[in-house]
Amino acid sequence: MGRLDGKVSIITGGANGMGRLACERFATEGSAIVVADLDPDAVAEVAGDLPAAVGVAVDVRDPAQVEAMVSTAVERFGRLDVIYNNAGISPGDDDTPELTSIDTWDLTFDVNVKGVFLCCKYAIPAMRDSGGGSIVNVASFVAHMGAATPQIAYTSSKGAVLSMTREIAAIYARQGIRANALCPGPVLTPLLAKFLSDDAKRQRRLVHIPMGRFGEAAEMVNGALFLASDESSYMTGQSLLIDGGITSTYTTPE
Ligand code: NAD
Repeated sequence: MGRLDGKVSIITGGANGMGRLACERFATEGSAIVVADLDPDAVAEVAGDLPAAVGVAVDVRDPAQVEAMVSTAVERFGRLDVIYNNAGISPGDDDTPELTSIDTWDLTFDVNVKGVFLCCKYAIPAMRDSGGGSIVNVASFVAHMGAATPQIAYTSSKGAVLSMTREIAAIYARQGIRANALCPGPVLTPLLAKFLSDDAKRQRRLVHIPMGRFGEAAEMVNGALFLASDESSYMTGQSLLIDGGITSTYTTPE
């Protein structure tokens, strides 16, 4: 028996990285999947490999496209149980407050914050019609701790995702809709590889990870699966940190 049997899940940013792996894993656990991402060919390819799935090209910044994404889930599969708000960006020129351009700030907030807001805005009524549901918002360990290797727009956007998640949890707790944030530590997907572009930068990050290694995408998806499924039925408004011990630690072992 699958851990998501009978459920319908939308996974944004499902064409690459952790989102793609999540599409495959959630499908293996019995969920029908809406693979949502920017590139129509990429979403079709991911969906084509899954037993019950549809690919939807969506820019999460666009209200009409997000609304259509949710409608597709309901029209195609009859209900909506899970929205996994995984789409996110980490622009390479995001830096200190002095160096980061206003355009980079706006773009980061449009995707990482407004995108999550819009997905929740349109998914919540569909979940309520389905008798409840689970929202999994991807924040980051940087929502909990500052880093001297700065990404001011990204870090601030993930803090906003965390507080948005808590408020949504409080508003909808009595309507059977849960909301939790998944806070991954560093995983070498294309998103992070672009930011930690050389070995010196990678080593600088590894020094702060007690386990001394980057996380695996599968380790994050395991957490998302728990939050999406009924196994976390008494959990809402929380932040699940999967970070190799980073946020628990002041000094790391030699
Ligand atoms: P990734 O770049 O591999 O995948 C992100 C996906 O989001 C891509 O497929 C991209 O096309 C999609 N996307 C970007 N903008 C979009 C938009 N406007 N509309 C729809 N889709 C859009 O990244 P990843 O590392 O797998 O990251 C997934 C999530 O995890 C992100 O929210 C990221 O911030 C977060 N995260 C990543 C790390 C890490 O170390 N990789 C750590 C903490 C949090």
